[in-house]
Amino acid sequence: MIASHLLAYYFTELHHDKVQQVDKFLYHLRLSDENLIDVSERFRREMDKGLGRDSNPTAAVKMLPTFVRSTPDGTEKGDFLALDLGGTNFRVLLVKVSDNGKQKVEMENQIYAITEELMRGSGEELFDHIAECLANFLEKLGIKNQKLPLGFTFSFPCQQTKLDESILVSWTKGFKSHGVEGRDVVSLLRKAIIKRGDFDIDIVSVINDTVGTMMTCGYDDHHCEIGLIVGTGTNACYMEEMRHLELVEGDEGRMCVNMEWGAFGDDGALDDLRTDFDQEIDAGSLNPGKQLFEKMISGMYMGELVRLILVKMAKEDMVFQGHTTPDLVTNGQLQTSFVSAIENDKDQEGLVSAEKMLRGLGLDPSVEDCVATRRVCQVVSTRAAHLCAATLAAVLRQIRDNKAAERLRTTIGVDGSVYKNHPQFARRLHKMVRRLVPDCDVRFLRSEDGSGKGAAMVTAVAFRLAIQHAE
Ligand code: BGC
Ligand code: MG
Repeated sequence: MIASHLLAYYFTELHHDKVQQVDKFLYHLRLSDENLIDVSERFRREMDKGLGRDSNPTAAVKMLPTFVRSTPDGTEKGDFLALDLGGTNFRVLLVKVSDNGKQKVEMENQIYAITEELMRGSGEELFDHIAECLANFLEKLGIKNQKLPLGFTFSFPCQQTKLDESILVSWTKGFKSHGVEGRDVVSLLRKAIIKRGDFDIDIVSVINDTVGTMMTCGYDDHHCEIGLIVGTGTNACYMEEMRHLELVEGDEGRMCVNMEWGAFGDDGALDDLRTDFDQEIDAGSLNPGKQLFEKMISGMYMGELVRLILVKMAKEDMVFQGHTTPDLVTNGQLQTSFVSAIENDKDQEGLVSAEKMLRGLGLDPSVEDCVATRRVCQVVSTRAAHLCAATLAAVLRQIRDNKAAERLRTTIGVDGSVYKNHPQFARRLHKMVRRLVPDCDVRFLRSEDGSGKGAAMVTAVAFRLAIQHAE
């Protein structure tokens, strides 16, 4: 019903007033350029703290060494298995890399469900399930009797001392499986496979999804030295000089660092910018006090932030004639995919989506309510994009200083559901990065399936090196 009036309404004063009212209410979520420059400088200091041997133990941003030292050289070949855990879906993949003249990559993949019970149950059950999915996949492709090398994309903070050992520091996002923190996930997976006894594989590498993304893009663009994820969670990695990596022996060459920037602020460094809504999100989460920067940004929390704001606005009689509904006040009822739909600019489709969503929550919204809801979405997702721009700017400065270059020309490989599905996020992020670091020429390259392909590529490189070593 509302739809036919929307266009006419769009240009009215009323609309303008409503937006201003929301903006005023959300004043603390609207960050100025000065705020962002300040965040960027704070993050640069956090990076230094994480890299230093003495300061690392108390650093919030862990700057984890990955033992990935180079990108593919194009001579890798063979069949590889990959596991991808920690993104929107759990998947098993077969990646075929062939090298007849020009390297080619072909993939088969299968998505398997991981229920909430499994995500929050015992670690043994979780790894038994992963092994079972692997068995099912091998069976289906008729390759159960081959012992293939496997790369594991495990998108959580891990302490690594080599490529095939990865100790989980702490779960993030929706996972809280018991008895895995502090343990090596390679051993846990091996144990689950041995217990079954119906197949054998060679686990060669564990990587973070940011690393997979950087590696996959690096394959097409040799300037790629940063990997960025804005999806269920958020994080980035980049190639750092070994001499700055005080936690790892040796000063020659570079190594990829998994920053785990989601934990920025866990030591209070962002307290002045965190709002009541951010505190509420944190208090109701699976990991209170942890991943505070991630909770201001990523897809796991964006919809929930919008919901909390709408509840508060309803209580202050700014929307829905002061009414709330049981669904509106229920955790998790407003998914981030709605935020994406509501910010669709095309032909007022966003406002129609806002109406649909609000009705779905049992509300009876006016046009003004829809306009207000869209504005809340815009403010929340813009803050997310701008915060990512601020931390990325710090990484770009670090790389530029490492190279002692006046201008830096570089590429960032990017993946994640927020970056890829939200209609405005990428544009706002790019624009702000360019504003914050005008002396860098940055190319943003969308990764095509970095988590899957990247694990196979890292494995392929490690496998090639191991064979060369044995010969
Ligand atoms: C994890 C990171 C991961 C990011 C994106 C965060 O919650 O800690 O390891 O890269 O999500 O998936
Ligand atoms: Mg060193």
